[in-house]
Amino acid sequence: MDVLTELQYFFMLHNTIMSLISIIVPCYNEDEVLLPFVQEIAKVERALPSDSFEVIFVDDGSTDHTLKILREICAERSETRYLSFSRNFGKEAAMLAGLKEAQGDYAAVMDADLQDPPSLLPELLHAVREEGYDCAGTRRVTRKGEPVVRSLFAKMFYICINKISDTQIVDGARDYKLMGRPVIDAILSLNEYNRFSKGLNEWVGFRTKWVEFQNVERVAGETKWSFWKLFKYSAEGLLGFSTAPLSLASLLGLLFVVLSFIAIAFLVLRQLLWHQSVSGWTSMVCILIFFSGIQLLCTGIIGQYLAKTYTEVKRRPHYIIKESKSDSSR
Ligand code: UDP
Ligand code: MG
Repeated sequence: MDVLTELQYFFMLHNTIMSLISIIVPCYNEDEVLLPFVQEIAKVERALPSDSFEVIFVDDGSTDHTLKILREICAERSETRYLSFSRNFGKEAAMLAGLKEAQGDYAAVMDADLQDPPSLLPELLHAVREEGYDCAGTRRVTRKGEPVVRSLFAKMFYICINKISDTQIVDGARDYKLMGRPVIDAILSLNEYNRFSKGLNEWVGFRTKWVEFQNVERVAGETKWSFWKLFKYSAEGLLGFSTAPLSLASLLGLLFVVLSFIAIAFLVLRQLLWHQSVSGWTSMVCILIFFSGIQLLCTGIIGQYLAKTYTEVKRRPHYIIKESKSDSSR
Protein backbone atom coordinates (compact mmCIF):
# COMPACT_ATOMS: atom_id res chain seq x y z
CA MET A 1 0.00 0.00 0.00
CA ASP A 2 1.46 3.43 -0.91
CA VAL A 3 1.34 6.30 1.59
CA LEU A 4 -1.78 7.93 0.09
CA THR A 5 -3.82 4.74 0.10
CA GLU A 6 -2.67 4.04 3.65
CA LEU A 7 -3.89 7.48 4.75
CA GLN A 8 -7.22 7.02 2.98
CA TYR A 9 -7.58 3.62 4.65
CA PHE A 10 -6.84 5.19 8.05
CA PHE A 11 -9.50 7.88 7.58
CA MET A 12 -12.03 5.33 6.26
CA LEU A 13 -11.42 3.20 9.35
CA HIS A 14 -12.00 6.16 11.61
CA ASN A 15 -14.97 7.25 9.54
CA THR A 16 -13.37 10.69 9.20
CA ILE A 17 -12.38 12.52 6.08
CA MET A 18 -10.18 15.53 6.41
CA SER A 19 -12.16 18.55 5.34
CA LEU A 20 -11.67 22.27 4.99
CA ILE A 21 -14.30 24.15 6.99
CA SER A 22 -14.92 27.83 6.24
CA ILE A 23 -16.24 29.99 9.04
CA ILE A 24 -17.73 33.28 7.86
CA VAL A 25 -18.07 36.05 10.43
CA PRO A 26 -19.94 39.27 9.54
CA CYS A 27 -18.70 42.06 11.80
CA TYR A 28 -20.18 45.50 12.26
CA ASN A 29 -18.64 47.46 15.13
CA GLU A 30 -17.61 44.34 17.02
CA ASP A 31 -14.23 45.39 18.44
CA GLU A 32 -15.19 44.21 21.94
CA VAL A 33 -16.06 40.64 20.95
CA LEU A 34 -13.45 39.69 18.37
CA LEU A 35 -10.80 38.38 20.77
CA PRO A 36 -13.22 36.18 22.81
CA PHE A 37 -14.58 34.93 19.47
CA VAL A 38 -11.13 33.91 18.21
CA GLN A 39 -10.48 32.07 21.50
CA GLU A 40 -13.72 30.10 21.13
CA ILE A 41 -12.88 29.18 17.56
CA ALA A 42 -9.46 27.97 18.67
CA LYS A 43 -11.22 25.58 21.10
CA VAL A 44 -13.35 24.17 18.26
CA GLU A 45 -10.27 23.74 16.09
CA ARG A 46 -8.67 21.72 18.89
CA ALA A 47 -11.84 19.60 19.19
CA LEU A 48 -11.65 18.73 15.49
CA PRO A 49 -7.95 17.99 15.00
CA SER A 50 -8.37 16.08 11.76
CA ASP A 51 -10.01 19.01 9.95
CA SER A 52 -8.57 22.27 8.73
CA PHE A 53 -10.23 25.65 9.07
CA GLU A 54 -10.33 29.01 7.37
CA VAL A 55 -11.96 31.92 9.20
CA ILE A 56 -13.18 34.75 6.97
CA PHE A 57 -14.09 37.94 8.83
CA VAL A 58 -16.16 40.40 6.84
CA ASP A 59 -15.93 43.93 8.22
CA ASP A 60 -19.20 45.54 7.17
CA GLY A 61 -17.98 49.15 7.19
CA SER A 62 -17.35 49.33 10.95
CA THR A 63 -16.65 52.73 12.46
CA ASP A 64 -14.94 51.45 15.64
CA HIS A 65 -11.63 49.54 15.90
CA THR A 66 -12.94 46.34 14.28
CA LEU A 67 -10.77 46.64 11.17
CA LYS A 68 -7.61 47.40 13.17
CA ILE A 69 -8.17 44.34 15.39
CA LEU A 70 -8.94 42.17 12.36
CA ARG A 71 -5.65 43.23 10.74
CA GLU A 72 -3.81 42.18 13.91
CA ILE A 73 -5.65 38.86 14.30
CA CYS A 74 -5.10 37.96 10.66
CA ALA A 75 -1.41 38.89 10.78
CA GLU A 76 -0.93 36.45 13.66
CA ARG A 77 -3.09 33.56 12.50
CA SER A 78 -2.50 32.03 9.12
CA GLU A 79 -5.95 30.44 8.83
CA THR A 80 -7.77 33.77 9.22
CA ARG A 81 -8.34 36.47 6.63
CA TYR A 82 -10.67 39.41 6.26
CA LEU A 83 -12.57 41.50 3.76
CA SER A 84 -13.47 45.06 4.59
CA PHE A 85 -16.35 46.90 2.91
CA SER A 86 -16.21 50.53 1.84
CA ARG A 87 -19.32 51.24 3.97
CA ASN A 88 -22.03 49.41 5.89
CA PHE A 89 -23.85 47.24 3.33
CA GLY A 90 -25.74 45.08 5.84
CA LYS A 91 -25.36 41.56 7.22
CA GLU A 92 -26.84 39.96 4.10
CA ALA A 93 -24.13 41.49 1.90
CA ALA A 94 -21.45 40.46 4.41
CA MET A 95 -22.66 36.84 4.45
CA LEU A 96 -22.74 36.75 0.64
CA ALA A 97 -19.19 38.13 0.40
CA GLY A 98 -17.98 35.52 2.90
CA LEU A 99 -19.67 32.65 1.06
CA LYS A 100 -18.13 33.79 -2.25
CA GLU A 101 -14.71 33.93 -0.63
CA ALA A 102 -15.05 30.53 1.10
CA GLN A 103 -12.96 27.68 -0.33
CA GLY A 104 -14.12 25.03 2.13
CA ASP A 105 -15.93 21.75 1.62
CA TYR A 106 -18.29 23.08 4.28
CA ALA A 107 -19.13 26.62 5.33
CA ALA A 108 -20.91 28.13 8.31
CA VAL A 109 -21.89 31.74 8.94
CA MET A 110 -21.42 32.70 12.59
CA ASP A 111 -22.20 35.93 14.44
CA ALA A 112 -19.16 37.55 16.00
CA ASP A 113 -20.90 38.11 19.36
CA LEU A 114 -20.89 34.36 20.26
CA GLN A 115 -24.70 34.21 20.11
CA ASP A 116 -24.18 31.41 17.58
CA PRO A 117 -22.27 28.97 19.82
CA PRO A 118 -19.11 27.76 18.00
CA SER A 119 -19.23 24.72 20.33
CA LEU A 120 -22.15 23.36 18.26
CA LEU A 121 -19.92 23.03 15.21
CA PRO A 122 -18.78 19.41 15.84
CA GLU A 123 -22.44 18.32 16.16
CA LEU A 124 -23.37 20.17 12.95
CA LEU A 125 -20.44 18.64 11.15
CA HIS A 126 -21.36 15.17 12.35
CA ALA A 127 -24.91 15.62 10.96
CA VAL A 128 -23.63 16.59 7.53
CA ARG A 129 -20.67 14.25 7.29
CA GLU A 130 -22.00 11.13 8.95
CA GLU A 131 -25.78 11.31 9.16
CA GLY A 132 -26.31 12.03 5.48
CA TYR A 133 -27.77 15.55 5.76
CA ASP A 134 -26.87 18.23 3.19
CA CYS A 135 -26.78 20.95 5.81
CA ALA A 136 -27.31 21.39 9.52
CA GLY A 137 -29.08 24.49 10.81
CA THR A 138 -29.45 25.90 14.29
CA ARG A 139 -32.67 27.00 15.90
CA ARG A 140 -33.16 29.08 19.03
CA VAL A 141 -35.90 27.53 21.15
CA THR A 142 -36.01 30.38 23.64
CA ARG A 143 -35.69 34.11 23.27
CA LYS A 144 -34.66 34.77 26.87
CA GLY A 145 -33.11 38.20 27.30
CA GLU A 146 -34.78 39.64 24.22
CA PRO A 147 -37.31 42.53 24.55
CA VAL A 148 -40.88 41.16 24.74
CA VAL A 149 -42.18 43.36 21.89
CA ARG A 150 -39.37 42.15 19.63
CA SER A 151 -40.17 38.48 20.35
CA LEU A 152 -43.87 39.12 19.77
CA PHE A 153 -43.28 40.72 16.38
CA ALA A 154 -40.86 37.94 15.45
CA LYS A 155 -43.55 35.34 16.27
CA MET A 156 -46.13 37.24 14.22
CA PHE A 157 -43.70 37.47 11.32
CA TYR A 158 -43.11 33.69 11.24
CA ILE A 159 -46.85 32.94 11.41
CA CYS A 160 -47.55 35.45 8.65
CA ILE A 161 -44.78 34.41 6.23
CA ASN A 162 -45.51 30.70 6.66
CA LYS A 163 -49.19 31.33 5.86
CA ILE A 164 -48.65 33.40 2.71
CA SER A 165 -45.45 31.97 1.25
CA ASP A 166 -44.67 28.61 -0.35
CA THR A 167 -41.22 28.76 1.26
CA GLN A 168 -41.62 27.66 4.87
CA ILE A 169 -39.30 29.33 7.37
CA VAL A 170 -38.54 27.58 10.64
CA ASP A 171 -39.39 29.72 13.70
CA GLY A 172 -36.20 30.71 15.49
CA ALA A 173 -33.90 29.56 12.67
CA ARG A 174 -30.53 31.32 12.82
CA ASP A 175 -28.26 32.23 9.95
CA TYR A 176 -25.77 29.90 11.69
CA LYS A 177 -25.94 26.86 9.42
CA LEU A 178 -23.29 24.42 8.28
CA MET A 179 -23.66 23.84 4.56
CA GLY A 180 -22.04 21.31 2.28
CA ARG A 181 -20.50 22.49 -1.01
CA PRO A 182 -23.60 21.74 -3.17
CA VAL A 183 -25.74 23.88 -0.84
CA ILE A 184 -23.20 26.72 -0.87
CA ASP A 185 -23.07 26.68 -4.66
CA ALA A 186 -26.88 26.62 -4.88
CA ILE A 187 -27.12 29.69 -2.64
CA LEU A 188 -24.43 31.50 -4.59
CA SER A 189 -26.31 30.83 -7.81
CA LEU A 190 -29.17 33.01 -6.51
CA ASN A 191 -28.13 36.43 -7.66
CA GLU A 192 -30.95 38.61 -6.39
CA TYR A 193 -30.11 42.02 -4.96
CA ASN A 194 -32.75 42.04 -2.21
CA ARG A 195 -31.54 39.09 -0.18
CA PHE A 196 -33.34 37.40 2.68
CA SER A 197 -31.11 34.51 3.70
CA LYS A 198 -33.59 32.68 5.90
CA GLY A 199 -35.83 32.39 2.84
CA LEU A 200 -33.06 31.65 0.33
CA ASN A 201 -31.70 28.85 2.55
CA GLU A 202 -35.11 27.19 2.54
CA TRP A 203 -35.85 27.94 -1.09
CA VAL A 204 -32.82 25.97 -2.37
CA GLY A 205 -34.15 22.86 -0.62
CA PHE A 206 -31.77 20.04 0.46
CA ARG A 207 -32.07 17.91 3.60
CA THR A 208 -31.53 19.94 6.76
CA LYS A 209 -31.05 18.72 10.30
CA TRP A 210 -32.15 21.27 12.91
CA VAL A 211 -30.08 21.49 16.06
CA GLU A 212 -31.84 23.34 18.88
CA PHE A 213 -30.21 25.53 21.49
CA GLN A 214 -31.14 27.98 24.25
CA ASN A 215 -30.70 31.67 23.50
CA VAL A 216 -27.32 33.02 24.52
CA GLU A 217 -26.81 36.71 25.19
CA ARG A 218 -24.06 38.75 23.49
CA VAL A 219 -20.68 38.55 25.22
CA ALA A 220 -20.27 42.33 24.84
CA GLY A 221 -21.50 45.26 22.77
CA GLU A 222 -25.02 45.92 21.57
CA THR A 223 -27.32 44.52 18.92
CA LYS A 224 -27.00 46.27 15.56
CA TRP A 225 -30.64 45.63 14.69
CA SER A 226 -32.98 48.42 15.65
CA PHE A 227 -36.71 47.74 15.62
CA TRP A 228 -37.04 49.68 12.34
CA LYS A 229 -34.16 47.73 10.73
CA LEU A 230 -35.85 44.45 11.76
CA PHE A 231 -39.20 45.68 10.44
CA LYS A 232 -37.63 46.49 7.05
CA TYR A 233 -35.88 43.10 7.02
CA SER A 234 -39.15 41.24 7.68
CA ALA A 235 -40.87 43.27 4.92
CA GLU A 236 -37.97 42.14 2.68
CA GLY A 237 -38.87 38.54 3.52
CA LEU A 238 -42.59 38.98 2.95
CA LEU A 239 -42.15 40.82 -0.36
CA GLY A 240 -39.33 38.58 -1.56
CA PHE A 241 -41.04 35.29 -0.87
CA SER A 242 -44.71 35.95 -1.51
CA THR A 243 -46.91 37.83 -3.94
CA ALA A 244 -49.89 37.33 -1.61
CA PRO A 245 -50.07 41.07 -0.70
CA LEU A 246 -50.65 41.80 -4.41
CA SER A 247 -53.42 39.20 -4.56
CA LEU A 248 -54.90 40.76 -1.42
CA ALA A 249 -55.02 44.13 -3.21
CA SER A 250 -56.87 42.58 -6.20
CA LEU A 251 -59.23 40.67 -3.89
CA LEU A 252 -60.09 43.81 -1.94
CA GLY A 253 -60.80 45.61 -5.24
CA LEU A 254 -63.07 42.79 -6.40
CA LEU A 255 -64.91 42.63 -3.08
CA PHE A 256 -65.72 46.33 -3.12
CA VAL A 257 -66.85 46.29 -6.78
CA VAL A 258 -69.35 43.53 -5.87
CA LEU A 259 -70.45 45.44 -2.75
CA SER A 260 -70.95 48.66 -4.74
CA PHE A 261 -73.13 46.84 -7.32
CA ILE A 262 -75.33 45.52 -4.52
CA ALA A 263 -75.55 49.00 -2.97
CA ILE A 264 -76.46 50.63 -6.32
CA ALA A 265 -79.17 48.01 -6.99
CA PHE A 266 -80.57 48.58 -3.49
CA LEU A 267 -80.67 52.37 -3.87
CA VAL A 268 -82.31 52.23 -7.32
CA LEU A 269 -84.96 49.78 -6.12
CA ARG A 270 -85.64 51.85 -3.01
CA GLN A 271 -86.18 54.96 -5.17
CA LEU A 272 -88.45 53.13 -7.65
CA LEU A 273 -90.56 51.26 -5.08
CA TRP A 274 -90.75 53.62 -2.12
CA HIS A 275 -89.63 56.96 -3.63
CA GLN A 276 -86.94 57.37 -0.96
CA SER A 277 -83.76 59.15 -2.04
CA VAL A 278 -80.46 59.03 -0.15
CA SER A 279 -79.77 61.91 2.22
CA GLY A 280 -76.86 63.02 4.39
CA TRP A 281 -73.34 63.83 3.35
CA THR A 282 -71.67 62.43 6.53
CA SER A 283 -72.10 58.86 5.34
CA MET A 284 -70.89 59.95 1.89
CA VAL A 285 -67.68 61.46 3.31
CA CYS A 286 -67.03 58.37 5.45
CA ILE A 287 -67.40 56.09 2.45
CA LEU A 288 -65.13 58.34 0.38
CA ILE A 289 -62.39 58.35 3.02
CA PHE A 290 -62.69 54.59 3.46
CA PHE A 291 -62.32 53.85 -0.24
CA SER A 292 -59.52 56.39 -0.72
CA GLY A 293 -57.69 54.60 2.10
CA ILE A 294 -58.15 51.20 0.47
CA GLN A 295 -56.94 52.60 -2.86
CA LEU A 296 -53.85 54.14 -1.30
CA LEU A 297 -53.09 50.90 0.55
CA CYS A 298 -53.28 48.89 -2.66
CA THR A 299 -51.20 51.44 -4.58
CA GLY A 300 -48.66 51.28 -1.74
CA ILE A 301 -48.44 47.47 -1.96
CA ILE A 302 -47.90 47.66 -5.72
CA GLY A 303 -45.36 50.43 -5.11
CA GLN A 304 -43.35 48.21 -2.76
CA TYR A 305 -43.04 45.49 -5.38
CA LEU A 306 -42.15 48.11 -8.00
CA ALA A 307 -39.44 49.53 -5.72
CA LYS A 308 -37.96 46.03 -5.25
CA THR A 309 -38.04 45.46 -9.01
CA TYR A 310 -36.32 48.85 -9.49
CA THR A 311 -33.43 47.94 -7.17
CA GLU A 312 -33.14 44.53 -8.87
CA VAL A 313 -32.92 45.90 -12.43
CA LYS A 314 -30.23 48.42 -11.52
CA ARG A 315 -27.96 45.41 -10.89
CA ARG A 316 -25.65 47.29 -8.56
CA PRO A 317 -23.06 45.16 -6.75
CA HIS A 318 -24.13 43.84 -3.35
CA TYR A 319 -21.03 45.36 -1.71
CA ILE A 320 -17.72 47.06 -2.46
CA ILE A 321 -14.51 45.69 -0.94
CA LYS A 322 -12.10 48.40 0.16
CA GLU A 323 -9.42 46.19 1.67
CA SER A 324 -8.71 42.52 2.27
CA LYS A 325 -6.04 40.51 4.05
CA SER A 326 -3.88 40.12 0.94
CA ASP A 327 -3.58 43.88 0.46
CA SER A 328 -3.34 44.87 4.13
CA SER A 329 0.43 45.06 3.78
CA ARG A 330 0.15 48.11 1.48
N1 UDP B 1 -23.91 42.68 11.34
C1 UDP B 1 -23.34 43.09 10.14
N2 UDP B 1 -23.87 44.18 9.51
C2 UDP B 1 -24.92 44.89 10.03
C3 UDP B 1 -25.50 44.43 11.23
C4 UDP B 1 -24.97 43.34 11.86
O1 UDP B 1 -22.39 42.47 9.67
O2 UDP B 1 -25.33 45.88 9.40
C5 UDP B 1 -23.34 41.51 12.04
C6 UDP B 1 -22.96 41.75 13.51
O3 UDP B 1 -21.66 42.28 13.63
C7 UDP B 1 -23.10 40.37 14.11
C8 UDP B 1 -24.23 39.74 13.30
O4 UDP B 1 -24.33 40.51 12.10
O5 UDP B 1 -21.93 39.59 13.93
C9 UDP B 1 -25.55 39.76 14.05
O6 UDP B 1 -25.82 41.09 14.49
P1 UDP B 1 -26.42 41.40 15.92
O7 UDP B 1 -25.73 40.57 16.95
O8 UDP B 1 -26.39 42.88 16.11
O9 UDP B 1 -27.93 40.91 15.73
P2 UDP B 1 -28.86 40.13 16.77
O10 UDP B 1 -28.06 38.93 17.24
O11 UDP B 1 -29.14 41.09 17.86
O12 UDP B 1 -30.06 39.75 15.97
MG1 MG C 1 -26.22 39.01 18.08
